[in-house]
Amino acid sequence: MCRHLAWTGEPRTLAELLLEPEHGLLRQSWAPRRQSHGTVNADGWGVGWYTPARPEPARWRAARPLWAEASLTSVAPHVSSGCVLAAVRSATAGMPGEESACAPFARGRHLLSHNGVVDRSTLPAGAWPLAESVCDSAVLAAHLLAAPDELGERVAAAGAADPGARLNVLLTDGERVLATAWGDTLSVLRTPEGVALASEPFDDDPRWCDVPDRTLVTATPDGVALTPLETT
Ligand code: GLN
Repeated sequence: MCRHLAWTGEPRTLAELLLEPEHGLLRQSWAPRRQSHGTVNADGWGVGWYTPARPEPARWRAARPLWAEASLTSVAPHVSSGCVLAAVRSATAGMPGEESACAPFARGRHLLSHNGVVDRSTLPAGAWPLAESVCDSAVLAAHLLAAPDELGERVAAAGAADPGARLNVLLTDGERVLATAWGDTLSVLRTPEGVALASEPFDDDPRWCDVPDRTLVTATPDGVALTPLETT
């Protein structure tokens, strides 16, 4: 399982979100606290963020551990954004170890991260030509990014088609963040400055709340809504 994170709200630097929190993605890349599948997340990392300059996000991904990205510590304090999506990867057995298999995946102004596993043969064949990689998460991302507003319905359908799937997803258009909890942990932090969604809390702030399994979360800078996902 990978670990992922999204922020929407007042601008934050990539250092503040990824590197500086005591249990942030940097720490989670080698010592996650709530990970039940896999032990470290050393197969790659990625971050996407939005700037006022253009609707499409910037993206930086690499197929090496986050802790080995030497130049990031210098750059991250200088990059700030009101909407950020990031992940560290623990590759599922049999999946390629390449940059294009690392989240976040992108289409147009949308970014998506998948924390979990899915049998690719259960996904619609139409997703394959659009996928950035043959990795299960990339094929799933291509399917979900084809209809971003249908995230809840499509995740529930994918879960019905593959009962063994774990389908924790983060999806954003640069303002709103949609998230699903389906088979793995997800936590939400509401603050006056914005909302964070993460596989696990990045610090010990008592405002973190666990999201129940099989839930769709809709987060904007000033609000969070939880909706149970249909299960069959
Ligand atoms: N299945 C995806 C991959 O191989 C995600 C793995 C994960 O969540 N650890 O990259």
